[in-house]
Amino acid sequence: MLNEEKKRRLCLQCLECCKILAVPIELKYADPESIAFYVNRGCWLATLSGGRLGIVIPFQCPHLTPEGCNIYENRPLACKEYDGTRDPLMSDKCLWIKKNRKGRNNDKNIKRSRHITKKT
Ligand code: SF4
Ligand code: SF4
Repeated sequence: MLNEEKKRRLCLQCLECCKILAVPIELKYADPESIAFYVNRGCWLATLSGGRLGIVIPFQCPHLTPEGCNIYENRPLACKEYDGTRDPLMSDKCLWIKKNRKGRNNDKNIKRSRHITKKT
């Protein structure tokens, strides 16, 4: 398992989960015409946590900066509680998952930052 400090450092190399917005939809609304509407606008269909279907919209949170979240101490509870290892949307991106898969702690290549401001 990764400790909180390691998670923070990994997040600063990634920042991917603050760049999308996922909107759950009912299966009956996922007809080809509707899906085409979203896809033609840069969105995509994905399985969300809990097995729900969702439209994923590229949307970068206005609080995201190159140094991480600029309201880190006061970020919403959903951001504080977010767990990248449980989010199917992030399974191919989240560095927490990739790091855990390696099964060993090798932090030599993790950039250190004095501005640890990203979600834990
Ligand atoms: S929680 Fe995962 S997906 Fe989100 S910024 Fe951190 S490493 Fe990236
Ligand atoms: S408030 Fe901060 S942690 Fe939450 S999505 Fe925005 S940048 Fe990310």
